[in-house]
Amino acid sequence: MDKNFKEEFRQIIKFEPPLYKQRHQFVKDLVEKYKPKKVADLGCADCSLLWMLKFCSCIEVLAGLDICADVMKEKMHTLSPLPVDYLQPSERSLTVTLHHGSVAHKDPCMLGFDLVTCIELIEHLEESELKKFPEVVFGFMAPSIVVISTPNSEFNCLLPGVMLYRHPDHKFEWSQAEFQSWALETARCYDYSVEFTGVGHPPTGMEKVGFCTQIGVFFRKYPQTAESVQSEKPMEAVYKTVFKAVYPSLKDEKYLQNAVISEVIFTAQIIKHRLMSKREEYSDDPERKSKFQLSMDCFSDYLGKLVVEKTMEPFVSGNEVYIPLTTIFSFPKVNRLCGTFEKLCKLIAGKVTLSSDGSAVMFNIEHENEDN
Ligand code: SAH
Repeated sequence: MDKNFKEEFRQIIKFEPPLYKQRHQFVKDLVEKYKPKKVADLGCADCSLLWMLKFCSCIEVLAGLDICADVMKEKMHTLSPLPVDYLQPSERSLTVTLHHGSVAHKDPCMLGFDLVTCIELIEHLEESELKKFPEVVFGFMAPSIVVISTPNSEFNCLLPGVMLYRHPDHKFEWSQAEFQSWALETARCYDYSVEFTGVGHPPTGMEKVGFCTQIGVFFRKYPQTAESVQSEKPMEAVYKTVFKAVYPSLKDEKYLQNAVISEVIFTAQIIKHRLMSKREEYSDDPERKSKFQLSMDCFSDYLGKLVVEKTMEPFVSGNEVYIPLTTIFSFPKVNRLCGTFEKLCKLIAGKVTLSSDGSAVMFNIEHENEDN
């Protein structure tokens, strides 16, 4: 390569967005494409990739592993649920766990993952660790997809200030041919296919050096059979769990019940409010009173009600307003949360004031009238 040409690029290479963000975005795109439920990030460092992945709604289990507990602990609090997660529990369940240990060791907590990411990890491994790595990741963990990224040493000549390696802790940096030969041999041994790509494009005219970060995406060729899963007898745990967060989820009956109660009361309040104001509006005019029912139907449509049961409309009797549960159940959000009418009745039993036959939510408006 022309020395002057190289020198010229050394000055101007700057990735936008920064390369680490491009690597993480690459993983996020992959997650959005393949929708894995269980994802493990090996060499997770400060958990920034895990943090990004916790927003991917397909993921139900996230795990991080690093040999350095301190670096993981720095920002692990960012993986905890926020108050809003409790106020509005998600429909999916999510558990985030961090383990302290080495990718050179097998631990049963690493079984059952769909996607395993190793972003800028392998170049930090000692020779002995790198030797054990394929057996642990591809042989033992055996996820459907493995992503491995590592620096492409051919790009280093374009990076200002890089003499030998990009980071003092790197034990090696591979050329494209070196990485590809290791990756192809690993894939062959463990029945995976591998596709090569990368992030950090070389400048125009320098395409030969390849991406700044080279990436191999490995796909397991055959589905895991019950037999192959069984054959790996779970062994003793060697990793230490340093963090675990279970996010509130509507899959948990306790959170589902709270959400349903709030939604039922909210829906009933809106219906009641509308009923009362319309009633007031039409109370002096008997002719307009007949139009009242029609107006209620339009209101139901406006709120996106699924079915309007003509015989089951809200009504006022004395100081009590009755909002039939069937009406409330026909609202999309309540309907979606409960699934069945029986479930709605079960979840609100004893938690919401109902009419004596249990068919309607009942409000006493005595004091409201006084206020007016
Ligand atoms: N994956 C991170 C950064 C990786 S830096 C990112 O995308 O930004 C490499 C990380 O691998 C470091 O945090 C280091 O502590 C960890 N590491 C090094 N050797 C390891 C091993 N044998 N097992 C697990 N983690 C290891």
